[in-house]
Amino acid sequence: MRCVVAAWVLVFLTGCTDGSAASAASGSSAPLGTEGGPPPEPTSPPPTRGEPLRAAQPVVLQADLHLDTPTQIVRKKLPLDGAGLEAGLAQLRAGGTNLAVMVLWPPQAARWEAHTEALLAAMEAEDRRLDDVTLVRSPEEARRAAAEGRVGIVYALEGAHGIDTSGIVGLRKLHARGLSLLGLTWSFSNRYAGSSGDKGGGLTAEGRALVAEANDLGVVLDVSHASREATLEVCKRSRAPVIASHSDAHALQPHARNLDDEAIRAIAATGGVIGLNLHRPFLGKPGTLARAADHADHLKRVGGAGVVALGTDFDGMIVPPTDLADTSGIGALWKELARRGWTEEEIRGVRGENFLRAWDAVLAARTPAAP
Ligand SMILES: [Zn+2]
Repeated sequence: MRCVVAAWVLVFLTGCTDGSAASAASGSSAPLGTEGGPPPEPTSPPPTRGEPLRAAQPVVLQADLHLDTPTQIVRKKLPLDGAGLEAGLAQLRAGGTNLAVMVLWPPQAARWEAHTEALLAAMEAEDRRLDDVTLVRSPEEARRAAAEGRVGIVYALEGAHGIDTSGIVGLRKLHARGLSLLGLTWSFSNRYAGSSGDKGGGLTAEGRALVAEANDLGVVLDVSHASREATLEVCKRSRAPVIASHSDAHALQPHARNLDDEAIRAIAATGGVIGLNLHRPFLGKPGTLARAADHADHLKRVGGAGVVALGTDFDGMIVPPTDLADTSGIGALWKELARRGWTEEEIRGVRGENFLRAWDAVLAARTPAAP
């Protein structure tokens, strides 16, 4: 099946031999190139030895850093490849997104750790069921998945209340199952950090230990929803890039969930990125994709083009832009940026390369002992 989906890739890959067919048939939950065996060797045209795989692949990496699709899958019992989602497989494919950060979000009233487990289990089941998606744990695996014509799935925890009792052990366990991003808080302060939702403070002692552990493991720290104080403190303490996966610019729309210029600069200084959020109340009027581009322009002015990314928040009960109902039409945003004079390279950065650069640096900074 993979041979059909990614037939053109055969020009470059020895794929669909017995070996790759077996790895596809064995289920897609094992990350390729680690437990799944060595990466496929490029054949034609022969790239220079040692050249990274991406040089042989004309695939544009397009990432969305924040999708609440797992919540809809569990709540509404919808399959990832079914109808009724804003960022299901069909919408992701139509919009060209081939790297989807799928968020595990424990609601405030839920039994947090049990709810996190339910979301993760649901996504693992979808990953096993669908050959079109595959869990990825590094930029290298993301590029490989994209080259194979699959959508790479990244697991993120939105709010460290999801490891409220299990703490660092809980983070290690989630990481062992593929977690790559850790959002410190959701809309309320927790035992680790203050939230922007209740005017919380900075990091607690446990929060500082959690930041250090995330660095050691190579888990990307995400400060969207964190208080301003916690955001600045994480940027100062983390020895790896810090991201805000789904936040906009406070200067354009003074909402507590948006980042002021000092926070934008602090995140940029770590080498991190900020994912544009498409929730209308965060964008401000007129709530269009052009307004999202205004925020992109501001982030670029303050933090440089390399800080800008996309984290739409689709399937997270957002009020989407008036001219974009789901992620299938996201290409209009790239067109708008081009119209405003963003270079092709800058737009490729926003689409995915900026995040992959940050993620690479996070993995490079982990301790050698980390799994
Ligand atoms: Zn959120």
